[in-house]
Amino acid sequence: MPEQLNRPLKVIDTEPALLGEGPVWDAHRQCICWVDILNGHIHEFTPTRNTYRQIQVNDMVGAVALRTNGHFIAALKSGLAFVNRDTGAVQMLHHPEVHLPGNRFNDGKCDPAGRFWVGTMALSEEPGAGSLYMIEKDLSHSRKIAGVSISNGLAWSPDHKTFYYIDTPTMEVVAYDYDIRTGEIAGKRTVITIPENQGFPDGMTIDRDGMLWIAHWDGWQVTRWDPLTGEQLLQIPLPVARVTSCTFGGADFRDLYITTARVGLTEEQLAQQPLAGRLFVVADCGYEGVEAWAFGE
Ligand code: CA
Repeated sequence: MPEQLNRPLKVIDTEPALLGEGPVWDAHRQCICWVDILNGHIHEFTPTRNTYRQIQVNDMVGAVALRTNGHFIAALKSGLAFVNRDTGAVQMLHHPEVHLPGNRFNDGKCDPAGRFWVGTMALSEEPGAGSLYMIEKDLSHSRKIAGVSISNGLAWSPDHKTFYYIDTPTMEVVAYDYDIRTGEIAGKRTVITIPENQGFPDGMTIDRDGMLWIAHWDGWQVTRWDPLTGEQLLQIPLPVARVTSCTFGGADFRDLYITTARVGLTEEQLAQQPLAGRLFVVADCGYEGVEAWAFGE
């Protein structure tokens, strides 16, 4: 049995998300940013000041990543966009799937070279309807993986040589050799298989030791894994079922932030898990993450 992380879990006092996702720590402003995909909100919470704000983009927002100028690149239902964090202004770019109105963007992140990787899925969750795209600094895009059902869980190894990816219904984390120069990925292999009765693998982050932290949708937990052995190392139980993603933040990247969802839960389930949709943090969790790369570096 994997060890349980024995540190206090705190709930952040902000508005609950319907589908909280995509946490990213902004090291410049020292705040945690995350999205509520279905409500079209970008949330920002600054722990040292205990301040909280929201940007409404009036469209589903699958993911955001920081730009080198401090603002966001966002993956909206209607396409890629730049979002000004101070004014909330949305500048639409293009849409790699303009021909697929039944899809929306899901999880996305920047790679170590400052390219934005973002995946799609069918609103109907039709299997294989989505793809994973890579957006270059000049905003051109290429399709990296086709036939994806629910694109999730992106991470790059600390040596920048491996890309980790989750297509949720496969119940697996797969790894690819990654070329930081070109963004090419190759040599797909399965490195982790999620056991039955632990929910579905959703969002993912990586720590300084190269271990993967996986959020379990309908699994009530975040887990830490060794991708070299496929072994589960650690478990963090949560008081909510739909755990969607996690990332490290704080001044020294030792606080683990965890997003959750309330979408699809019955009244009865919501009564049993009143904190569903909230942001959680395990402060000083005993492990250290790495800074998120920004778009355009
Ligand atoms: Ca997700």
